[in-house]
Amino acid sequence: MKQAEVIAICNQKGGVGKTTTAVNLGAGLAMSGKKVLLIDADPQADLSACLGWKNTDALDETIVSVLSKVRNDEPFDPKEGILHHNEGMDVLPSNIELSQFELSLVNVMSRENVLKNYLRQVKSGYDYVVIDCMPSLGMLTINALTAADKVIIPVQAQYLPAKGMTQLLYNVAKVQRQLNPDLKIGGIVMTLIDQRTSLAKETIEAIRKNYGAGIRIYSAQIPVGVKAAEASGRGESIYSYDADSKPAAAYAELTREVLKDGEKARTDRLRSSGDR
Ligand code: ADP
Ligand code: MG
Repeated sequence: MKQAEVIAICNQKGGVGKTTTAVNLGAGLAMSGKKVLLIDADPQADLSACLGWKNTDALDETIVSVLSKVRNDEPFDPKEGILHHNEGMDVLPSNIELSQFELSLVNVMSRENVLKNYLRQVKSGYDYVVIDCMPSLGMLTINALTAADKVIIPVQAQYLPAKGMTQLLYNVAKVQRQLNPDLKIGGIVMTLIDQRTSLAKETIEAIRKNYGAGIRIYSAQIPVGVKAAEASGRGESIYSYDADSKPAAAYAELTREVLKDGEKARTDRLRSSGDR
């Protein structure tokens, strides 16, 4: 039985590269031979679209249908809703009904745990689960953070990126205290870097100054590259669309870093279960 590491890609700011990172990290992990489930946790369904499912409103089985069953404490088939991408990843698509679903959680018992309870029954089939969060800190994002082993935060290189970060880190700390003490911050990944400017360096310095030297910033830095956006338009990862592009090299490096951490976490887990 596999023991999936669950990774939430999270930042309440839109347009920072969350979805592109989820797609290309997921595809990179799958290319490395890992069994991967990508979860679209955004009613905009960008992740589904970037992987080629452009009209998910027509689908009966989605994250909404399975999570509704979990919310109602009804049984579900672990395969329900799961699509398979030809690059090897499984995908749980979303659609616009997810907004309504989020609102429906208000009066539900254990409403922060719905995604976690879903994954409890599904994740033994995977090495990695990657959750693409929506640009808010609402109940769906809280669900993702509650279900996750770690959060990766894409940050766009720009002046004053750090404003929303305070709120995000506050929410992560609150989830750690109240809902998921095992949640770790994997790190910050710098995205949309324009190599003609020194913004990335300045942004990193600002983050370190404001949030301490302890916060991990991945070595992989994702450059702006039109190929990254084009690949999404084609429903492919950057490796499949243009393996020689700079974003492909950067996402491959991020994948290696995540794999290295993941393998270490796995041996630590095995060791601690052996000690008991
Ligand atoms: P988010 O999920 O945080 O809203 P996206 O991943 O959807 O961010 O990215 C926002 C926009 O920027 C999309 O149109 C996407 O195609 C584009 N984009 C993302 N990463 C890159 C990149 N490295 N180079 C160029 N365009 C990118
Ligand atoms: Mg997105």
